[in-house]
Amino acid sequence: MTVKRTLRTTVPTRTVLEGGGFPVRRPIPMSALTSPFLLLDEMGPVNWPPSAAIGAPNHPHRGFETVTYLLKGRMNHADSAGNSGELNSGDVQWMTAGRGVIHSELPHPDFHKTGGVMHGFQIWVNLPAANKMMQPRYQDVPAEDIPVVCSLDELVTVRVIAGQSLDQSAVIDTVIPITFLHMTLKPGGKIIQSIEKGLNGMIYCFSGSLKIDQKTLNDGQLGILSDGDEVHLSVSDSAKEDVNILFLAGPQIDEPIARYGPFVMNTEQEIMQAYADYNAGTLA
Ligand code: MN
Repeated sequence: MTVKRTLRTTVPTRTVLEGGGFPVRRPIPMSALTSPFLLLDEMGPVNWPPSAAIGAPNHPHRGFETVTYLLKGRMNHADSAGNSGELNSGDVQWMTAGRGVIHSELPHPDFHKTGGVMHGFQIWVNLPAANKMMQPRYQDVPAEDIPVVCSLDELVTVRVIAGQSLDQSAVIDTVIPITFLHMTLKPGGKIIQSIEKGLNGMIYCFSGSLKIDQKTLNDGQLGILSDGDEVHLSVSDSAKEDVNILFLAGPQIDEPIARYGPFVMNTEQEIMQAYADYNAGTLA
């Protein structure tokens, strides 16, 4: 029998400053209910004046993955191993920090000069203990390579960043089974999204009001789903605006979390080792 998932609880967001001081909207608290997702930051939207845009200068990571999905703006990425690249509207960087990366995430110099709208997401995905010290891996996927699929009536568009939706699979490979979708639902739009039973499922709404079965999730809320096989999402015919959501799912990682700043390990000892490696110049 197919079990419908419903909205179990909602997590509110707060606006906080991240990196060098740019504003993000962040659901607090993330918890065991949101495993394996440790952090969900909506960067902006901010309309930066010329020469004002702020990013995150050099900093380390170990023990998890950072996923950057840019909706608007232009960013530059560079790490201490010599990897670099840029992110433009719609591009995704899925970075598996593994044993260690030291990188900067900054507005592109041209964007910094002219200013403009920056809007996007950074999500932290935990890694199981067995994968925390894996070799770092980058998957830089330009917008045109992210699969996009529409419902038959074209009222729902899904960008399939990880996992599957409407029989379309993502191109990004994940260490543990992750679903990461950007859905846009026009007024009157409906979609049934499958999620394997037992996986944690959640939805972050960043414009409009979404119906999850009979309940409502509003702009700036993270909705945690109950367990089941699928979830029924819709937008009222009379809605005045499109609804945009990130749909996330993944397994519960039942392991202790020791987290300090940019490191997410299992024990205090491993955090101290990460700092020792960083200070010795052997982290990355
Ligand atoms: Mn970072």
